[in-house]
Amino acid sequence: MTDDHIEIRGLTKRYEGGDPGRPALYDVDLDIRHRHFVSLIGPSGCGKSTLLRVIAGLESHDGGRVSLFGQTPLQMCRRKAVGLVPQTPALLPWLTVRQNVALPSKVNRRARRQGDSPDELLRAVGLDDAAHRYPHELSGGMRQRVAIARAFGLRPDVLLMDEPFSALDEFTREALQLQLLALWQSRATTVVFVTHSVHEAVTLSDRVVVMSARPGRVHEVVPVDLPRPRDREAVTGFRTNGLEQRVRASLQGAWESGAAPDDLVRR
Ligand code: ADP
Repeated sequence: MTDDHIEIRGLTKRYEGGDPGRPALYDVDLDIRHRHFVSLIGPSGCGKSTLLRVIAGLESHDGGRVSLFGQTPLQMCRRKAVGLVPQTPALLPWLTVRQNVALPSKVNRRARRQGDSPDELLRAVGLDDAAHRYPHELSGGMRQRVAIARAFGLRPDVLLMDEPFSALDEFTREALQLQLLALWQSRATTVVFVTHSVHEAVTLSDRVVVMSARPGRVHEVVPVDLPRPRDREAVTGFRTNGLEQRVRASLQGAWESGAAPDDLVRR
């Protein structure tokens, strides 16, 4: 039964021109439950962005299977059921904040039918006062808020976020984490979130997927049993019940177990 989760089995991805003995992703197995918040963490180059792009239907794969609630990534992509928030928000500079957030409902029937109003979304990310400003008048954190509000405007079944907060200062980052959690909790969205921060992964997620490099694989999935809703106290850092140490140890193990290409050839 795959209708209630994202199911990835034996996923392998090689880039053209890349080393065939070192695929970007190799034999990745992963299950992500509906409405779960899952983080991907691992060393640079272990395939986190590639995995997001394959799930988003933006990148093909060579082997294995990816099912998003019983559909292929391309089917989901055509239905506009998958949203992607990159590290650097791509806002349209000639549109105001409100017009940027309203864009999905202008161009997409699904968003018009199911989405929240742009004003509700702006309120949710604390930007109601900036509705008539233009992107160049905003700070980095404000631009990322607009991108998140716009992504939720599509009412995506799956929201993929690729290090969305990595360029922000700590205080802004914490504020956005809380707003993201509130938006996610009130909507039926499954989030897959790439981060380099162990603390961010643990405080936001239901599960932390630790990946290893050379080639990119799932090393371990660490369940996070912290209660929800998670408030400022949880996000700003205490009582993570040793989970951060657990993820750090797993990352160390992933680093030490990086498979050599010869191992792959023998498999
Ligand atoms: P991460 O997001 O974990 O840093 P990526 O998914 O960006 O990792 O990259 C995984 C591997 O695939 C890296 O070795 C990278 O060099 C390679 N790679 C990524 N994109 C391309 C591409 N378009 N063409 C060739 N190789 C790529």
